[in-house]
Amino acid sequence: MKINFCSCCGAPMEKKIPPDDDHPRYVCTQCSHVHYENPKMVVGCLPIFKDQVLMCKRNIEPRKGKWTLPAGYLENKESVQDGALRETLEETRAHVKIIDTYRLFNIVFVDQIYLIFRAQMEDDLFGPTSESTEVKLFKEADIPWDEIAFEVIRQTLVDFFQDRKQGAYPFKIKDLKPSRLQDLR
Ligand code: ZN
Repeated sequence: MKINFCSCCGAPMEKKIPPDDDHPRYVCTQCSHVHYENPKMVVGCLPIFKDQVLMCKRNIEPRKGKWTLPAGYLENKESVQDGALRETLEETRAHVKIIDTYRLFNIVFVDQIYLIFRAQMEDDLFGPTSESTEVKLFKEADIPWDEIAFEVIRQTLVDFFQDRKQGAYPFKIKDLKPSRLQDLR
């Protein structure tokens, strides 16, 4: 992203490698403020109720109308667990308890990290929100595989149903490659 003006003093920025640094950054021509850009963290849950998983239909771009797991950007001053619970409540109205950390995806080509927890739904109460037009429990056979919003979500669900057959859910870190057109957005 191009940064034109300094967020501290409003003066023009220039791209250069600051002293004692090894990456080009936007640096203020007046006050020397450095604009650091770092990957964004996305946190979410795979909510489980009996033999079903809870998914939501996105009401926001990108991928509006596609199905996903509740997840979103971590806020400042928020733990990854609290962020995942907050996003789950905001997108599905479901109250869940985290079981364990399940998947971490490095998505370096879009500067994102996805962290997904397995989570137990406390009851079967859930519903649509401003961010989700529809929220629904799915058995494995009914997952809308052709209508899933993001590759990380598809991989998480594939892994989950495979792991469930083994009865063990080991934590894994995966590197997502831009193998599909949708990942390039
Ligand atoms: Zn400045």
